[in-house]
Amino acid sequence: MSDGRRKRELARADRVLPGVWRLRLPMDTAGVPHVNAYAINAGNGAILVDCGMNAPGSFAQLERALDQAGMKIEHIKLLVCTHAHSDHYGMAAPVCEAAGCELWMHPAHQHATAPATDPERATRRRIEVARHSGVPMSEIERYQEGDRGGWRGGIAAVRMPDRELREGDEIDSDLGRWKVVETPGHAPSHIVLHQPETRLLISGDHLLGRPTLFFDYGYTSDPVGEYVTALERVRVLDVDLVLAGHGRPVRGYTQLVDAHATLVGEALDRTRAALADGPVTAFDAAPSILGFEGRPIPPVALSWAMSMALSYLRRLERTGEAERVEGADDDTAETWRLVQP
Ligand SMILES: [Zn+2]
Ligand SMILES: [Zn+2]
Repeated sequence: MSDGRRKRELARADRVLPGVWRLRLPMDTAGVPHVNAYAINAGNGAILVDCGMNAPGSFAQLERALDQAGMKIEHIKLLVCTHAHSDHYGMAAPVCEAAGCELWMHPAHQHATAPATDPERATRRRIEVARHSGVPMSEIERYQEGDRGGWRGGIAAVRMPDRELREGDEIDSDLGRWKVVETPGHAPSHIVLHQPETRLLISGDHLLGRPTLFFDYGYTSDPVGEYVTALERVRVLDVDLVLAGHGRPVRGYTQLVDAHATLVGEALDRTRAALADGPVTAFDAAPSILGFEGRPIPPVALSWAMSMALSYLRRLERTGEAERVEGADDDTAETWRLVQP
């Protein structure tokens, strides 16, 4: 349905299993109609996993979904975030304040909390990377505009975790214990939660029912490599039902993991092909790397595209298949080429 015809959706709650609710929270962001939070019964209250993006009316939407699950905000005794992207963490500060609860999250959250604390500095840094990667000045202007709204504006206030979640940590609920598995790649702070007895996996954005990749570039040296390693680590988990950060619960676990791995493989193949004709800037290579087939990347997608293209190029640099060539001076962009065997 086109954006013009899409009505403002209302949040709702769907029961996944007794004691586990999927809270479907609408979003205004193009292409992403909603994000899921999950409410899990624990003692006389509930654990909330993820909390939605901060936007006008978003707190009321969360309350509406909780109400359908028979809960009020005061019932939340703990907020856990799968990662610090604004659609999963954006309302952490107001939720923790209203519920009087703690926030537990992985400590590598600077990819979100640093830009939210000092947006000007983060924008300057991203522009520097963009220029260095061959993005023309005219496009960079629009980059800045894009930074002001949308994803990066969706964090109500920076809230630091009260407890840092790491590999092997456990969270108690009425259903049993949820085990934390570190899954960096999509974002450095990403974790998934596995409940072995019920074979549930809360997967955040690491695995999605409609497989989609994103890598938060600029905070670790090889996001794609980290992501692939994390895919292999979750592949061995015993999982029946995946509760993802977006979309409906999904079965067919191994095929789902495979589908994500295939997407990475295809993108790396396109990256090799993009470098085959000699040195090219990341900006010039991005349309072919991302499968735009010669079409330019729309300005709204440029920041996303550069993050993705640079992540794939970095991966090939790590595997020794590609190398970077510095520009002749500060105003000349770096280029990438294949390493001849
Ligand atoms: Zn995310
Ligand atoms: Zn998300």
